[in-house]
Amino acid sequence: MSNKQSKQIIIVGAGPGGLATAMRLAHLGYKVQIFEAADRVGGRMRGFNDGAYGFDTGPTILQVPRLYEDLFADSGLKLSDYISFKRLEPNTRICFWDNTQLDLTSDLDAFKTQLAAMRPDLPAAFERWYEEHIRKYDASYDAYLGTPPRSILGYLRLDEILAAIPFRPWESLYQHCWRFFQDDRLVYALSYPSKYLGMHPTLSPSVFSLIPYLEFADGVWHPEGGFRNLAAAMGKAATDLGVTINLQSPIKQVWIENGQTRGIELKEGNKIQADAVVVNADFAHAVKNILPDSVRDRRYTDKKLDHMQFSCSTFMLYLGINKRYEDLPHHQIYLSEHIRRRQKPWLDDSALDETNPSFYVCNPSIIDPGNAPEGHSTLYVLVPIPNTSHNVNWGSKQKSYRDFIINRMHLLGFKDVEKHIVTETCYTAETWVDDYKVHLGAVFNLSHNWNQLGPFRPPIRSHNTKRLYWVGGAVHPGSGLITILESAKSATVFIDKDF
Ligand SMILES: Cc1cc2nc3c(=O)[nH]c(=O)nc-3n(C[C@H](O)[C@H](O)[C@H](O)COP(=O)(O)OP(=O)(O)OC[C@H]3O[C@@H](n4cnc5c(N)ncnc54)[C@H](O)[C@@H]3O)c2cc1C
Repeated sequence: MSNKQSKQIIIVGAGPGGLATAMRLAHLGYKVQIFEAADRVGGRMRGFNDGAYGFDTGPTILQVPRLYEDLFADSGLKLSDYISFKRLEPNTRICFWDNTQLDLTSDLDAFKTQLAAMRPDLPAAFERWYEEHIRKYDASYDAYLGTPPRSILGYLRLDEILAAIPFRPWESLYQHCWRFFQDDRLVYALSYPSKYLGMHPTLSPSVFSLIPYLEFADGVWHPEGGFRNLAAAMGKAATDLGVTINLQSPIKQVWIENGQTRGIELKEGNKIQADAVVVNADFAHAVKNILPDSVRDRRYTDKKLDHMQFSCSTFMLYLGINKRYEDLPHHQIYLSEHIRRRQKPWLDDSALDETNPSFYVCNPSIIDPGNAPEGHSTLYVLVPIPNTSHNVNWGSKQKSYRDFIINRMHLLGFKDVEKHIVTETCYTAETWVDDYKVHLGAVFNLSHNWNQLGPFRPPIRSHNTKRLYWVGGAVHPGSGLITILESAKSATVFIDKDF
C-alpha cells in the first residue's frame, strides 16, 4: 500500500468544489469520504423536483467546458461517459431599458452585424476589444486564475507585472468597457456579470472582462438534464473513483487538537478520524459554525467578517407552467435603467428595488424538454436583492415582490405567465441562509474587489491549522464554477505537497 492509500481525507460538503476535489484526490490514491448535510449532492446547484417538473437551483450558465473535460480526464475518466453539454445560441439575450435588445453570441459576424446597427464604428471597436482579450487571456489565465494562490510577495513578479500593465488592471470593469465602446448598452451588457461577483460594474476590477470574452470565445453551454444532473454526474464519478459520500450527515465541528486537524465530529457527537479535512461548506458560515473558537484565524473574527464585503443575494422563482415559450432564448437578462445609477442603494444592493430591478430568466425546457411534461416547461427567475445584512422583512414582502416580478416578466417576452403557473417555489435571501447555510444569503460569496482577491482572499491551505484546507467560491480565485473548479485543482496540489 502506497503512502497515499493509507491517508484518509474528509471533505465537508458536496458542492461542486467538494465533489471536484474528491475526484482529484481519489484519483491520486487518497481515501476520500464526503460528509454532506443535504439529502443529495450539488450544494447550490443541487436542484429539486416539484411533481413532474425539475428545476436547477443555482448555476445555469456553463462556461469553458474544457475545464470539466480536464477535471474528468485528470481523474482518469471521460466526461462524455457521465454527461453531455449542449451549446446555446445565442449565449444570452440582453433587453435594455430603452426597449432595444442585443444577442450576445459566439457567432462574431452576427454579433458585429447587430453592433453596426447600433453605431457604425462599434464592430471595429469590438474587434479591437476581442483581439486585446486573446492576449489578455494568455497573459492572465494561467498566471492568476489557473494556478494556486501565492503570498503577496509571490505576486510581485516583474515579468507578470509587465505583461499585465497594457491591460490597465487598475481600471474598473465599467471604465474598461467604456474606453472601447462609449455606449452604455454595450458597456453594461458586457459588464453586468460583475453583479454575480458581488459588485456593480463601476466597482469591479477590469480583470473580469475575461468572463464575457470567454463566453464569446468558447460559447455558453447547458449540461443535458440541467446542472442538477451535472452535480449527480460528478457525484457518480467520485463514487466510481472510490469516494464514499455520506448524505444527510451534517458535521458539528472540525476536530482540531494542538493546531493539528484530527478529523470531524458529527452532529450526533461521534468523532471520525482523518489525516486532513477539506471544508467546502460556505466559508463564513463554516468559520462561525463548525470551527472550534479556539482555532479561529484572527483575520476572520465575527467583527472582521462583519467588515468584509459580501455579494448580493437573489430572489428566485422556480415556475412549472403549462405552456412553452418556444421563441424565447435560454438565457435572458432585463437591464433596467437603474443599473446606470451611481449611488446607493443601486450601487451596493443595500435596499430592495421595488420599482425597476434588473432580472434574469432562464427558459431551459426548449433545449432540455425532459424537465417538464409534454407541452409544459419550467422557468427560473433570478432577481439580485440585498443580502441579510440589510433589513428586508421577507415575511411581509415575499408575496407582493413575487407578484411584482411575475408582472414584469413581459419585459422579456414572457406574457401572461400568471395564468399558466402549475407549480411554484420562491426563495428569498433567508432561504439561502436557512436551507443552504450561506452566510448572509450572499450566494456569490465574498465580493471580488482587490482587497478580497488573490493573497487577500481566505486561504486554501489554513495558515494556523495543519492539514485543514478550504475549497469553493470564497477562496482563490473566486465564486462561479470556473473558479471553483480551479480552487479544487489548487487544493489538490497543496494537499498532495503536504503528504
Ligand atoms: C442563484 C445562483 C445562480 C448562480 N449562477 C451561476 C452560474 O450561472 N454560473 C456559475 O458558474 N456559477 C453560478 N453560481 C455560483 C455557483 O453556483 C456557486 O458559487 C457554487 O455552487 C458554490 O459551490 P461551492 O463548491 O462553494 O459549494 P456550495 O454549493 O455552497 O456547497 C456547499 C455544501 O456544503 C454543505 N454543508 C454546509 N454545512 C455543512 C455541514 N456542517 N456539514 C456537512 N455539509 C455541510 C452544504 O449543504 C452544501 O451542499 C450561482 C449561484 C447561485 C446561488
